[in-house]
Amino acid sequence: MPALLTASWVQLGWEDRLQESWSEWQQALLSEPEPEVDDSVIHYAIQSGDSLSRIFSRHGFSQQLMHHIMAADQSLLALDVLRPGHTFTFRLDEQGELQSMELFVHAGNRVLYQRESDGEFSYQELLDEGEWHSQTLVGEIHGSFYVSAQRAGLNDAEIATVSQLFRDRVNFSRDIQAGARFQVVRSDNYVGEEATGQSRIEGIRIFNRRQQLTAFLHDNGQYYDADGNSLQRAFMRIPLQREYRISSAFNPRRLHPVTRRVSPHNGTDFATPTGTPVLAAADGTVIRVENHPFAGRYIEIQHHGQYKTRYLHLDRALVRNGQRVERGQRIALSGATGRVTGPHLHYELHVNNRPVNPMTANIPLAQPIPDEGRDAFFEKVAFMIQQMDEETLLAQKR
Ligand SMILES: [Zn+2]
Repeated sequence: MPALLTASWVQLGWEDRLQESWSEWQQALLSEPEPEVDDSVIHYAIQSGDSLSRIFSRHGFSQQLMHHIMAADQSLLALDVLRPGHTFTFRLDEQGELQSMELFVHAGNRVLYQRESDGEFSYQELLDEGEWHSQTLVGEIHGSFYVSAQRAGLNDAEIATVSQLFRDRVNFSRDIQAGARFQVVRSDNYVGEEATGQSRIEGIRIFNRRQQLTAFLHDNGQYYDADGNSLQRAFMRIPLQREYRISSAFNPRRLHPVTRRVSPHNGTDFATPTGTPVLAAADGTVIRVENHPFAGRYIEIQHHGQYKTRYLHLDRALVRNGQRVERGQRIALSGATGRVTGPHLHYELHVNNRPVNPMTANIPLAQPIPDEGRDAFFEKVAFMIQQMDEETLLAQKR
């Protein structure tokens, strides 16, 4: 029995202490995080204007060490976009040598770079898809759609998605009647209680004159109207004017020829001579034009729905960050930048933030909704329409 008594006493003491220090605790949470007691762990919150090289020199880490980590990051390219709010955790051994580095993007996305016995680094993505919580937003269009949608609570990226989805059906600057109603189901991503900052449009309806514009997101990452017709223009399977020999195929389990460790090949390599025009695989927005010691000069494009593409080892980029591009538009000239054995284009396709084989993946083909998952789609649409109508009625009563 004494052991049990001790245990409950300890527990009581612990709870009391918790009660006492609760307000202190909250204060601490609101102010700066407490410095780590263990000096072998360093936390660093990324500031605006920070670069990896600046952060490394500030902590006394060598450029050579950074090079090793960049090598590990080559197939992920997570370190090229450091944003305020993201954090690093560095763990050192007794000699002060870096053993691991963790990049915290949000609660659902962390990347761990770990030193291996040979001094090289490996990476591991720690992903948690969390949950999507939806809400219904309603409003009327007065003046521009942009301002009206923003007033209803949509962000810039969501508004851009909507106007691109309907671009073949309506001209937002000309054809919208004043007072046209719109309804949107938007969902936000949470891991536990924490919002990750990711959001997406699940469904939208716009009532304009006699026309009803609808778009709903299906499980395959593509948008269809309420009748199941595709709203996305087809993707190009190959982002080139003609076919080139595939010099290296997509292979998530590829072994590194020297280290024999798994070093995924997240794209398809085409044996293109330097200067070959590279085309946007689909309509979208350029979200990165970067230079990487291993990936070379590269471009990333965000497409509608849950699609992204990447083009690596470019000789020259012909677009800038933030630019809207159309399917088939020349975006770059291929090259041999970064660490390569010869000129080629490395092309990646990501669906829901995961790389997939660009040669075999289901790409948008501007075709009606596939039979598989069709019933579930129409059920989801009916449910969302009901939510939208209820919210509109509520809004009219307010
Ligand atoms: Zn490649």
